[in-house]
Amino acid sequence: MEIHRLPARSDNYIFVLRDPNSATAAVVDPADAPPVLNKLRELNAQLVAIFNTHHHNDHVGGNRALLKQFPSAQVYGSKQDDGRIPGQQHYLKDGDKVTFANRTAQVLFVPGHTRGHIAYYFAPSAANEPGELFCGDALFAGGCGRLFEGTPAQMQPSLAKLRSLPDNTRVWCAHEYTLSNLKFAASIDQGNDALRSRLTQVIQQRNQNQPTIPSLLKEEKSTNPFLRWDTPSLQTLAKSQDPITVFGHIRAMKDRA
Ligand code: ZN
Ligand code: FE
Repeated sequence: MEIHRLPARSDNYIFVLRDPNSATAAVVDPADAPPVLNKLRELNAQLVAIFNTHHHNDHVGGNRALLKQFPSAQVYGSKQDDGRIPGQQHYLKDGDKVTFANRTAQVLFVPGHTRGHIAYYFAPSAANEPGELFCGDALFAGGCGRLFEGTPAQMQPSLAKLRSLPDNTRVWCAHEYTLSNLKFAASIDQGNDALRSRLTQVIQQRNQNQPTIPSLLKEEKSTNPFLRWDTPSLQTLAKSQDPITVFGHIRAMKDRA
């Protein structure tokens, strides 16, 4: 399975998955249709599936126009998003499986950013290969989504679920927010050397207009403060050792930053 990263709108990424053996493709979170249609033309591939992580327009905005060109494409989304994902035909819940290109993705229910948010996790196809996580606006490189429809008590367990995946998992999040996320992270987690060097690297990448996505879950675990509720310095900052309280404190700080 090939993964093609397409920039869209001001800071979105759309992911086109291609099966080289069957000339079919799937798309994750099509903000808009034109870049996807262009890529499908270039790949000479037929769209068979749309995987949506949640209902926000910058993730489903292209659904209708893609279905117009590919009427038999199947539209997947969360059961909790019934009625708010255009063209939805499949209503997924935690633990469900979806398949594409002889790969199976596990559906992870990760509410918090929205009440229906899901992620798709493709386990590695072979021992030395990475897994692929499409996590929308739940987990970002260096950050996490805002709590539009959820509470820390919902979001922290969602992020714990993502954190429990293997280190060698590529994180394909839907926005290029990495630089501002890491600047915030460095302001609250000052003793973290891995974070400092990641920030330095990301500053260079962004200066050259390079994407920072995908990241590796291993580096998220060591540098993303929203996955680090058990780090003593962050517990001290939040004056708590309770994971939900620590996470909620950091999320509130970021909201005010
Ligand atoms: Zn969103
Ligand atoms: Fe978004």
